[in-house]
Amino acid sequence: TKSASKPVELTHNFTTKSGKPITLGTGTGTKWQWLKKGRPEEEQNTLTTELVDSILLALENGYNHIDTAEVYTTHPEVAAAVKKSGIAREDLFITTKYTPGFRTFPAISSGPTEFIDRALKELETDYVDLFLIHSPFFEEKVSRGQTLESAWAEVIDAKKAGKVRHIGVSNFSKEHLERTFKVAGNPDFYPKVNQIEFHPYLQNQSPGIIKFAQENDILIEAYGPLSTLFRIKQNGVDVEDHPLKELIPKLAEKYGKTDAQILLRYTLQKKILPITTSSKLDRIRQSLEVYNFEISDEDVAEIDKTGSSYHFRQFFVEEYDH
Ligand code: NDP
Repeated sequence: TKSASKPVELTHNFTTKSGKPITLGTGTGTKWQWLKKGRPEEEQNTLTTELVDSILLALENGYNHIDTAEVYTTHPEVAAAVKKSGIAREDLFITTKYTPGFRTFPAISSGPTEFIDRALKELETDYVDLFLIHSPFFEEKVSRGQTLESAWAEVIDAKKAGKVRHIGVSNFSKEHLERTFKVAGNPDFYPKVNQIEFHPYLQNQSPGIIKFAQENDILIEAYGPLSTLFRIKQNGVDVEDHPLKELIPKLAEKYGKTDAQILLRYTLQKKILPITTSSKLDRIRQSLEVYNFEISDEDVAEIDKTGSSYHFRQFFVEEYDH
């Protein structure tokens, strides 16, 4: 029947500490971090109430998985929303990410060890569920002496100390992942997640990354999974006409779903877990209603093929498109 549950088999089906399956992730980066940083200096240390309300709305409507990071500076809002929700900490899954600095932006912490202790304080918790290194692009000038290898060793230490339940990375290529394997030695301390940009116009952030990760027991998480709906630009200018403009609405009509639901379900059927964001109630609810239908293999292949005919990358353009 139409409402029958259609589960998906991801590389890892993570649960909260209490054993509940996790939902898609609700993001607190992108629009929120810039909103925060755009505010006057004297307001930088006060809570962004719009964001607290938005996380709370997601939690009240069924999300149990929150994505934050050191660079987003949104830990206090996450803590406030969790508190307001009244949901027990062990029924939630919280991810945060250490930044090694980026291009000319210096790292904030001396390394993952210093960062995780501060993160736990700011999040008002004694563990995070998933701890990621935000990017593999360590630089002598900005990374405060850390390298990919030294940072991964510190992430492993945080896991051994029980400060984090799972460990992983973000924006890593196959070569970057192999370097973490060397540091770890024991597969128990390999990354379990690689969070990358993913949508039909960017089916591999770096060559062969999805296949390599999934074969090595690493869950791919997708950020920007809805990009093809509204974010397509070339040289900074919105592109009105691109190949998925017709196909996604056509499939939405065929399955009786919204365009966003088609893209989120497509992502899940690739064994990839989406991280998405909306401040709007109907969109939040719809984004979780992606387990009661299935896109046929032919239609998934059609999205793949149409998506492959066009290229769009929003993040790490200089690092990966050269
Ligand atoms: P999405 O591609 O899901 O985009 C979210 C945006 O889409 C919001 O602005 C929202 O606006 C809009 N939107 C949501 N639903 C719909 C819909 N049904 N129709 C049309 N528009 C819709 O993901 P994000 O780019 O926001 O990324 C999600 C999260 O991923 C970030 O918050 C962050 O946590 C993480 N991230 C991680 C990165 C990394 O390097 N690891 C890099 C970038 C992001 P509205 O509120 O108006 O609904």
